[in-house]
Amino acid sequence: MFDKFREECGVFGIFGHAEAAKLAYLGLYALQHRGQESAGITASDGTRIRAVREMGYVNDIFDKDALATLPGHLAVGHTRYSTAGESKLANAQPILIDCVHGQIALAHNGNIVNANEIRQRLVGLGSIFQTNSDSEVVVHLYARSQAGTFVDALVESVAQLSGAFSFGMMTKDHLIAARDPHGFRPLALGRLADAWVVCSETCALDLINATYVRDVEPGEVLVIGADGVRSVRAFPKAKLSHCVFEHVYFARPDSEVFGQSVNEVRTNLGRLLAKETGVPADVVVPIPDSGVCAAIGYSEEAQIPLRFGLIRNHYVGRTFIEPAQSIRHFGVKVKLNPVKSILAGKRVVLVDDSIVRGTTSRKIVKMVRAAGAAEVHLRISCPPTISPCFYGVDTPRRSELIAATHSLDEIRRYVGADSVGYLSLDGLMQAVGDRQQHYCTSCYTGQYPVAFPQDHNAYLQLTLKLDGTPLPIPEEEPESVI
Ligand code: SF4
Repeated sequence: MFDKFREECGVFGIFGHAEAAKLAYLGLYALQHRGQESAGITASDGTRIRAVREMGYVNDIFDKDALATLPGHLAVGHTRYSTAGESKLANAQPILIDCVHGQIALAHNGNIVNANEIRQRLVGLGSIFQTNSDSEVVVHLYARSQAGTFVDALVESVAQLSGAFSFGMMTKDHLIAARDPHGFRPLALGRLADAWVVCSETCALDLINATYVRDVEPGEVLVIGADGVRSVRAFPKAKLSHCVFEHVYFARPDSEVFGQSVNEVRTNLGRLLAKETGVPADVVVPIPDSGVCAAIGYSEEAQIPLRFGLIRNHYVGRTFIEPAQSIRHFGVKVKLNPVKSILAGKRVVLVDDSIVRGTTSRKIVKMVRAAGAAEVHLRISCPPTISPCFYGVDTPRRSELIAATHSLDEIRRYVGADSVGYLSLDGLMQAVGDRQQHYCTSCYTGQYPVAFPQDHNAYLQLTLKLDGTPLPIPEEEPESVI
C-alpha cells in the first residue's frame, strides 16, 4: 500500500475452453494484486494468436469489445508490475512474436538474473530487441533455436536462464507452463471440466470454479495440447528457494502457495510474533490490509482483543490531488483514518507485515498517538528486512532499508513507537514449517541462493542496490500528521 516491497507479476493460462479469453480476464482479476501497471491477454483460435495489452488495471483495459477480439480455446494473461525494465506499454505482457517455430506468447513472473548477459550475446549475433524487459531474451533464444520441434526449442531456451521465472506461454495450439528449478515464484495447475489452467495463485482457480491439481514442479516444463499433457525436466535438480515473502505479504490470504495456506501461515506468523515479542497492552490493531492475518494470530496468542482501529479507504486511486502543500503526510491520511473510540487512552499493539524504509510506519504511529493512544508498540511479522531482492521483487537499494543500517532502538526512535519488535528468522521458518530450508530468505539474511550475473550492467545495478550508506535518522520527534 505505501512503503512496501512491490509485488511482481501475475500469470494465468487456460487451454481447452470455448471462452478462454473471458476466463483469463477473470483470472487476472484475481491476480490484480500481483501487478497494477499493465495487463494483457493473448488468445488463439488454433490458427493465430491475437493480443490486447494496455497500461492500467484489468478492469480499465478489458471490456466486452476488447474480449470479443480474442476468440479461441486457448489464452494466456498477465498483470505486470515492472521489476525489470521500465513501466511502459512496450514492456506490457504477454510478449508476442512470430518466428521460424511459429507464433509464441510469453507471460513472466520473476526476474532472470542473467538476462543482460544473454541479451548482450544475442545483440552481438544480430538480435534486435523491442523492449528493455528481461523476459524478452526468452523469445529471442526460442527464435534462434535450431531444435527440430517447438518443445525442444523451448526447453533449450529456458535451460539457459538463471534466476526466478514462472512462465505461462502459448503457441497457436499449445499452452506451456515452466518454472525455474529453485521454484522461487508459485505456479499452480488446475482443471475446469476438460480445460487445463495454470496460474500464479490458487485464488484465480477459485474465481473460475476450477479445481487445484498440483503445482507446476520447480524445473518442469509442461506442454498442454490436444495431444495431451507432456512434462519435461529442463534442469538438473537444484536447491529449492521458494520466496518466503509470498507468505509474509505478496500472495492473497485465500491462496495456497508452495503447498500451504497463506492465511494459516500468516496467522501463525502473528501467533509466533506474540510469543516472541509480547508486551502488556489493551488492544491489537492491524495496519490494513497487510497486517490483518498476523494481527489475528497475535491477538489469539496474546489474549488481547483485536480491534480495527485504523480504517482503510478502499476507493483511493493510484494518484490523487493534494489540496495544499501545507497539509503534511496527506497521502497516508487519505488512505487510513484512526478510530479514536478504539485508540484513545489505550496501550496499542500495531501489527504490520514489514518495515521497508520506515517512512509510512512513522506516519501511522504518529497518527495513532494523535488519536489518543497511551502507548504504541509496533510489531512486525517477519525479521528485519536488510537486503534487496534480485528475484523478481522491486525493492529499494540497501541503504534505503532502515533495518539494514540502523539498530532496533534507532528504528524505534525513528518511527516514534514505545517499542518495536520483529519476528525472528527461526520464528518465520517455524511458521512455514520449513525444516529442510526450502525457502529463500535473502532479504533477511543477505545470502543469495542464485549466483549474480557477471556482466557490467548487472554488476552496476547490484552495487547500487547493495550500497550500504545509511540514511540519516532524525533525532527530533516525528512531525505531526495533523
Ligand atoms: S529475496 Fe526476499 S523477496 Fe526476494 S525471493 Fe528471496 S525471500 Fe522473496
